[in-house]
Formats: sequence, C-alpha cells, structure tokens
Amino acid sequence: MKNFEVFTPVQLRWEACFYCGGHLPALKKEHIFNSSWTGKHKTGALICDECNAAFSFSVDTAFKSYTKYHMNVWSLKGERQKSVPTIETEGEIIIKSGAQPEEKPSSFFSYEEGNLFYTAKAPNKPALRQYLNEQLSKDLGRDLKEDEIKDIKNMVRNASSEIKPLNSVQLYDSIDPFLEIRSTVHTILKCMALFDSDFTKHVSHKVLDFSRHGVGNWQEFAFLGNSSLDVASTYFKHHPDYNAVEVYYLPSTKQILAKHIILGRIIRWVVLSNIYEGPHKILFVGEPSLGGILKKFLLIFSETFPPSAQIERGMKEVDFIEDLMTLAQITLGPDAQLARLFRGMEGIFNDFDVLTQEHIDEYKDTLLLFLNNMFRITSLIIQCPIPYSEEDMLCGLMDNGLTELEAYVGQINIAEGIIDTMSRPIQYVFSQVVQLGEEAKLKEKNK
Ligand SMILES: [Zn+2]
Repeated sequence: MKNFEVFTPVQLRWEACFYCGGHLPALKKEHIFNSSWTGKHKTGALICDECNAAFSFSVDTAFKSYTKYHMNVWSLKGERQKSVPTIETEGEIIIKSGAQPEEKPSSFFSYEEGNLFYTAKAPNKPALRQYLNEQLSKDLGRDLKEDEIKDIKNMVRNASSEIKPLNSVQLYDSIDPFLEIRSTVHTILKCMALFDSDFTKHVSHKVLDFSRHGVGNWQEFAFLGNSSLDVASTYFKHHPDYNAVEVYYLPSTKQILAKHIILGRIIRWVVLSNIYEGPHKILFVGEPSLGGILKKFLLIFSETFPPSAQIERGMKEVDFIEDLMTLAQITLGPDAQLARLFRGMEGIFNDFDVLTQEHIDEYKDTLLLFLNNMFRITSLIIQCPIPYSEEDMLCGLMDNGLTELEAYVGQINIAEGIIDTMSRPIQYVFSQVVQLGEEAKLKEKNK
C-alpha cells in the first residue's frame, strides 16, 4: 500500500444550519475565509442568517490588529473594505497604504489683539488647505467666509516644505485572544462542514457553543503546535498571501488538531476533539488572496505512515502579544522594503520599449537603497550593527549584470539576453539579503 492517497473532497450542501438547525439556504452568503483577510469564496449552504449575523461585528474583526500590517504594506484590501488599512501611531505619524509614513495634519492658533494667528502643518499642500478649511471652521463654530477661504489659499501657496528623516514609530494596538480563537474555531468548523459530513460526530457541543455563543475559555482550545508536514506553505509556495486551514485527524491520540493560517503570516492552532476514531487524515482548505475559489484536498494515510501534529504547550496571552510585535516589525521593516522594491522596479521597467542609461541608473539606485535599508533595519531589529559598505555593494551589482546591461542601451525589451542580464543584479541583491539574514542570526546567537 502507498503511504498516503490524495482525494478531492466533494463540497457539501447542508439542509439545515450546522450550529442551530436553522433555515438554509441563507439569504446572506457566508465567507469561508473572512473578507477582511481578503477571503472571497462564499456559500449560503452552511449556516443560517441569524448565526452569520451573530459573528459579523466582533468575531469577524478579531484579527484586524494583525492583518492591517500585512495588508497595508502590500496595499491589499478586502472585498468589503473601501480602502487599504492605514496604521495609526502614538506620535504624529500615520502610515498610509504601501507603508508610506505621513505626518498627521496639526495646528496651533492664538488670538492677539483680536487677530487670529495660525501655524499648521500637513503632508502636502492640498492636504494642508483641506485641513485648514475644516479645522478653522470647526474652531470658529461656523462656515468660513469667502475672504477667509481666499486667505487660506494664499497662506498655503506660500507655505514652506521640509523633508524629515523618519527613524522609528511607537505603535499601539489592542488584541482579544478570546475573539481570535473563536474566529479561528469558526473558520475551521466551516471548512470541516464543507467537506466532512461526519464532523459533528467528533466535534463536541462544547466546541460548537464556544464558537457560536462564546461559552467557555479560549485556553481550552488554543495551543502552540507543530506538525511533520507543512501543507499550506508547500501548496501556496508561489502565493505570498493566502488563508488556509489544515485539519489533522489523529486516531493514535484520538485528537483532531487544526492549524489556521491568515494571509500566510498569522498562525493559530486549536484542539477540536479528543474522541476521534477513524483513519489518519489531513483535510486542507485554502484560498489565495481574493482568489474566489477554494483549493481543497484530503490526504488519507496508511497505518504505517501516519502524519504527526503535536501540542507543544497551551497558548498564553503573552504569546499573542509577541506574535503581534514580531508581525508588525517584520511587515513594516523588511516586508515594506521588499514591497517598495517591487513597486520601484515596476515603475522603472513597466512598458519600457527601449533600454536607456536612465533606466539602468534608476535600477541601480533602487537596488542600492533597498540594500542600504535592509542592513539598517536588520541592525535595528537585532539591536546590533551589521557593517555595510555601499561601495562593495555597488561593485557587486556592477559585476553581477549592471555593467553588462549597459551594452544593451538603445535595444528593445525583447532583445536576446536582455531579460537574463536584467535579472542578475536583483538575484545578487537577494543573495546579499540571505547572507544578511544569516549574519543577523549569528550575531543574535552570540549576543
Ligand atoms: Zn444557525
């Protein structure tokens, strides 16, 4: 017998809501993976309208404190969201889509001899004008007169601008492990209900009640876990953003353990049963960001080759906090640089017909800036400087394709060898980043 077999499970349609037995099909379709994490696939054949509505305000927003970082940096927005999430900070800075920091508009005013004096600042002139109009009208408690609007226009025209470097920002957030774990259990139960008609035999009322009504403690379900396979990240190798569920049916320990992954970044493990009897199997359900179609398969294992998944220990509140801190640091740090690099490359090479020296210079500057920032950020994160020589990096880039690329100036974008030559400097950059990561690890260890 083979070690395991792969099946494509059939999607089920329930006759009645699996939580309460209520009427189906529901009028309002339910997202399998929450739309605020870029889930798109919907069904009306699992849970009734009443149960669906009960989740929508609190449970469905439980992971916002985490997902907003990833979505901001990569400029992603959910189906129901009007815009990419912004990130507020403790200071004057607000982080806009694409990890772009911007100073919040602010103003000071004083009265002297019946005259109102104003100083104000904003990220750009149109924003300054809009802010002054709104703020002044608010402060005066009335609509502005025409000459006042004109004055503001003049003031803004003559305003001076400055560029300030930004080093670090203080972030604040709130998290709720109880709602997070409910949201995780709810998502996993929906995936199980979609493809496993027997799931309520193994999953007790306690689990259903916790998910649907919030009865019980999250500590009974959440744990830090690991598994011998890493199904989702193997399957979604080429998608940085995906939502997925892996359900491990483990007769040897009678457990059903499940792993929930949000945006390829946030991982929660929960235990759903201690009375499971049946074959060793893994149910996988996933959806790439805004994909709309669920990817699913069922792996059934032979007795002699069971998969393994273990509980390391129960989750504590501090684990959630650490998770959020790491996520914020990685997304706003290295991820944001990578996103910026990709945007920069797109800007340079999108629709280029003929290669010019300007293209090459811009390419060089973009790559150098990226490397420079990556070294700086990594040093900050590990709190230990990593030496960086811009000169060495420039030499490396020149030796790895940039010099050769100059021979293609004036040639069209499909000229033989041009794409290969163009991709070499970026390969060099990524090899430097890998080295940097290893160096950082070493320094952390020796600290
Ligand atoms: Zn219901």
